[in-house]
Amino acid sequence: MNEFNVKSKIYFGRDALQYINNLKGKKAFIVIDPFMVKSGTINSITNLLKNTNIDFCVFSDIQSDPAIEIINMGIKEILKFKPDIIIALGGGSSIDAAKSISAFGTALRRVYEKHTEKPLFIAIPTTSGTGSEVTGYSVITDKKKKIKYPIYGEDLIPDVAILDPELIKTVPKAITADTGMDVLTHAIEAYVATNATDYSDALAEKAIKLVFKYLLRAYNDGSDMEAREKMHNASCIAGIAFNSASLGLNHGMAHALGGEFHISHGRANAYLLPYIIEYNSDLENSNYNYASKKYREIANFLQLTSSTVERGVVNLVEYIRGLMVNLNIPTSLKKAGIDKEIYYKAIPSISKIAMEDKCTITNPRSAKFEDVVCIFKKVYGE
Ligand code: NAD
Repeated sequence: MNEFNVKSKIYFGRDALQYINNLKGKKAFIVIDPFMVKSGTINSITNLLKNTNIDFCVFSDIQSDPAIEIINMGIKEILKFKPDIIIALGGGSSIDAAKSISAFGTALRRVYEKHTEKPLFIAIPTTSGTGSEVTGYSVITDKKKKIKYPIYGEDLIPDVAILDPELIKTVPKAITADTGMDVLTHAIEAYVATNATDYSDALAEKAIKLVFKYLLRAYNDGSDMEAREKMHNASCIAGIAFNSASLGLNHGMAHALGGEFHISHGRANAYLLPYIIEYNSDLENSNYNYASKKYREIANFLQLTSSTVERGVVNLVEYIRGLMVNLNIPTSLKKAGIDKEIYYKAIPSISKIAMEDKCTITNPRSAKFEDVVCIFKKVYGE
C-alpha cells in the first residue's frame, strides 16, 4: 500500500507573511542566522509579532551546514524560553537547525516537565533551494568527523510553510545559482528514485519545468519578481516530491563531498548531477534501464530532442552542463580549484560515507563502492 500526503499548510505569494498577523500564541522562538539579523530581514517577522503581542526570543547562532554543537546550544535556549511557537527564518541551514532543536527540545520537555504539547513549527525559507519547509529532513553536520547526517522523521515536517518571494530578492547571484541547482537535483532525483509514484512524479515534473524556465532569469536579474516567485514555488514543490519519493546517490555523494570540502550543498549537487545521470542510465551496458527511460521522459517534457532513449539522456546531460556554464558554476572540481592530491586522498573515505548515506538507498541503480570511487574521480575532471 502506498501513501502520499502533504502535512504542511503552505501560504505563498507576495503577502504570504501576513499569516503572522493572525497567529495565536504566547511565545515565539525564532531561529535564524546572523546575516538575517544584520541585514534587517528579521524585522519583517518581529514587527508583525509585536502587533500580535506575541513575546519572542531570537536564537541567531546558525551557521551554514549547522553543527551538532549549535543544535545543543539551541536546545538549552528552548528549555529556558519554553515557546509555544517556533519560527525558522532563513535558508535550509536555519530551517534544518530549528527542526532538530525543536524535536529534541520538545522531547526533553516531555521527559523533564511532563509538557506534552508540541510547539507550532513555522518555516519561512529565504533561499529557493532546499524545500526544507515541507520535508521531514534535517541535515546536521559533525564538524569534527566532517560528516553530514540527514535525519528523517515525520515529526520534523513543519506545520506551516510561508513562501514570500519578497524575502528572496536579496539572495546573491552565486547562492541563487547553487540553490537553484539544488531544486533541480531534488526534482530529478525524486523523478527517478525507487520510491517515485505518479503523485511525486507530477510534482517533480512541474518543479523541473519551472527551474528550466525561471532559474536563469532569476540569476540574471535578481529583481525579476516573477522568476523569484516561480523558483520559490519550484523549491517547495520539489521538496514535497522528494519528501515522498526520497532522493538518490547524487545527494548521498553531495553530502559526503560537501562535508569534507566545505562546498555549498547546491553546488556539490550540481557538480555531480551530469555524472549521476550518466551513471544511472548505464547506456553502455544496459538495454535502456528504468532510469534512462525516465530521464528521456524529462527530456521529452522539456522539449529537448529525444528520438531515442540514448539521445534523450545525452541531451538532458548536455542541457544541464550548458545551464551550469550560464550560471557560472565550474563544470569540474579541478576548475573549481580543489587540490588534486588532497581530493584523491579523500576519495576512499568520502565514498564510504556516500555509500552509508540514507539518500543513496533509493537510487535507481544500486551502486557499488568502486562505482562511487569512479564517479568521484570523473567529477574531478582531467
Ligand atoms: P544556507 O541556509 O546555508 O544559506 C546560505 C547563505 O545564504 C548564508 O550565508 C545565508 O545567510 C545566505 N542567505 C540566506 N537567505 C538569504 C537572503 N534572502 N539574502 C541574502 N543571503 C541569504 O543555504 P541553503 O542552500 O538554503 O541550505 C543548505 C543547507 O540545507 C545544507 O546544510 C543542506 O545540507 C541542507 N538541506 C536540507 C534539506 C532538507 O530537506 N532539510 C534539503 C537540501 C539541503
